[in-house]
Amino acid sequence: MSNQTNVVIIGGGAAAVSAAKALRAGDPELKIDIYTKESIPPYFRPSLTFGVMSTPPEPRLISKPEFYVSSNIGLHLNMNAIAIDREAKTVTFADDSKISYTYLLIATGTHRVIPKIPGVKLPEVISLCDHRDLKALLELLKVRRNIVVIGTGVLGLELASVLLQVKHHVTVVGASGLLKNQLNAAGRAFYEEIIKKVPDFEVVTGSAVKEICGAGRVEGVNLIDGRHLECDLVIISAGATSNVDLAQQCGLEYDKGIAIDNQMRTSDPAIFAAGDCAEVACQTFGLWEPALAQGKVAASAILGKPEIFHCKCYGGFLNAFGTKLYSIGFVDGDDSVEMRDDANKNYSQIFFGGDSVVGGFMIGDTNKMMALTKAVNEQYTKAQAKEQGLF
Ligand SMILES: Cc1cc2nc3c(=O)[nH]c(=O)nc-3n(C[C@H](O)[C@H](O)[C@H](O)COP(=O)(O)OP(=O)(O)OC[C@H]3O[C@@H](n4cnc5c(N)ncnc54)[C@H](O)[C@@H]3O)c2cc1C
Repeated sequence: MSNQTNVVIIGGGAAAVSAAKALRAGDPELKIDIYTKESIPPYFRPSLTFGVMSTPPEPRLISKPEFYVSSNIGLHLNMNAIAIDREAKTVTFADDSKISYTYLLIATGTHRVIPKIPGVKLPEVISLCDHRDLKALLELLKVRRNIVVIGTGVLGLELASVLLQVKHHVTVVGASGLLKNQLNAAGRAFYEEIIKKVPDFEVVTGSAVKEICGAGRVEGVNLIDGRHLECDLVIISAGATSNVDLAQQCGLEYDKGIAIDNQMRTSDPAIFAAGDCAEVACQTFGLWEPALAQGKVAASAILGKPEIFHCKCYGGFLNAFGTKLYSIGFVDGDDSVEMRDDANKNYSQIFFGGDSVVGGFMIGDTNKMMALTKAVNEQYTKAQAKEQGLF
């Protein structure tokens, strides 16, 4: 590429760093700059949850700050991009500064879904999305808390389990049952039987939170069905939504995420998107591994050696409450094989659609999770799945 060409990356997460590394590997001369609104270098976001156990909170950096210097990748912190001018090919930041780009990669991730309920602005209501949230949460956890976690998904339960390890009392609350995307009714009953014995922990499902109450500080939550739960801290873990604001502002196509093809190209040939902010083949992933893969594919397209991002099925893993859980694909339906060992608290099911493996979950013993992932993605037949020892 000509030495005038530059790539601007907005966002400082998995997709951004993966793209920058691949761009540098492909072109030692290319001018590459990462602009992130965070105040620390890119870090391993999934480890935020476990940061609750460490004071002071040490972020697990993806690469040391020296790496960006030695690789000649400009890393610009505290830079919040607020507008893209596609005609002029510029990005404007909240501090009114402006930069030009030849190619632009949007890798701005997601933001947490915060329910619009009364009391949500009280000072002891928080969600865990970035390192700043972690620092604020650790301040609140300096005294023993009675915590309500709103959200019954993997991240809410993982956080609940970590909070219990640092001796807080935790109630997980949700309108739907636990892990609604990961387990069917039988799996959920088995899992609940294990976790109901955990001390200082309660699960309240079947009703959403109507309001967070308290005069100036959190004193409890009221549920739609009339129940009241006392608490002095509320953590919201009710899902995340792709950041499409920049795409919307500059007129790029978007739906659930910024619309991209399988080479991470948006509707503007100079602009790419990757990671949690992007939607490919009607899917947003919300996971670390595809964000890395998409960053790399975006880089290859910018370098003029396009690779293809292949959508595949990713599983979710949860190591919490003294047991493990792995789930992938579709986990409901009549055509399934069940393996149950009550003595050792192991339970798994594999589901079939036609004659192919379409999903499954494992509670307790998750040793075969890689084999299950392969079976789902390669659409093993029942016979193949049996042959490979999956049941
Ligand atoms: C608590 C927690 C636990 C998780 N656990 C797991 C797990 O166990 N396994 C897993 O696979 N995934 C997990 N995830 C999800 C995983 O972290 C994400 O899928 C992954 O980080 C996505 O990478 P990304 O680069 O697309 O976006 P992000 O990592 O979200 O990075 C986006 C970056 O863009 C910045 N940004 C946003 N808007 C702007 C702007 N306008 N200007 C400048 N910068 C901007 C953000 O500040 C952020 O630095 C977890 C997420 C959280 C929050």
